[in-house]
Amino acid sequence: MIRLLGVSKTVTSGEQRLTILHPLTTTIERGQFVAIVGPSGSGKSTLLGLIAGLDAPTSGSVVIDGTDITRLDEDALARLRGATIGFVFQFFHLIPSLTARENVAVPMEIAGAADASARASALLAELGLTDRAHHYPSQLSGGEQQRVALARALANDPAILLADEPTGNLDTATGRHIMDLLRRIHKARGTTLVLVTHDADLAALADARLVLRDGRVVESAGVEVVSA
Ligand code: ADP
Ligand code: MG
Repeated sequence: MIRLLGVSKTVTSGEQRLTILHPLTTTIERGQFVAIVGPSGSGKSTLLGLIAGLDAPTSGSVVIDGTDITRLDEDALARLRGATIGFVFQFFHLIPSLTARENVAVPMEIAGAADASARASALLAELGLTDRAHHYPSQLSGGEQQRVALARALANDPAILLADEPTGNLDTATGRHIMDLLRRIHKARGTTLVLVTHDADLAALADARLVLRDGRVVESAGVEVVSA
């Protein structure tokens, strides 16, 4: 379960203080599929980064399965993130000097898994990429790179999968394939899925929706929200 309690983000640019996420309180249940939608610049990536602990809120707490991650030191946060959260980005963010299998193995190696390479191969097989395991990212199509990124996100069998416009850099058919995989994983593994998208068709697939505008939730469905 993900609980946000009065979570906000204010940044300083030059002389100005700019609130890019206004205090937000909400709960995402375990196993829920929530879509975060809204126009470009509305704060979607900011919100996802705060849930992931990639960014620290200006106020409020992010509580993941009972742990307030805003109170953890860097090492503890990194460990929790590695064990609990998988993240998929619009631009894949694979390590260019590593093969597909090596990219997928990285989070498992960090976590100290003994069989990282074999498990990476199994994940690539699950995503239909066995024959691409030894390819470097530059040798893969966008859809293949995103499937490798998805395999990497699943490396430590996370309870939570966060995806920031994962189809935003793919053609429609490839994007649909990635979405099918995300939904299949969500259903088969019971993973909590938080998807940022500006595609209304994709958002309609979710159990719940948050609509952001100018850093505020202006509409929601299937989830209780207090947005100041
Ligand atoms: P979205 O993902 O919905 O497009 P973002 O969360 O990336 O929106 O950004 C929300 C707003 O905050 C945008 O106007 C963006 O320019 C601004 N922003 C994001 N991060 C920073 C930062 N570190 N410093 C200044 N402004 C930022
Ligand atoms: Mg964004």
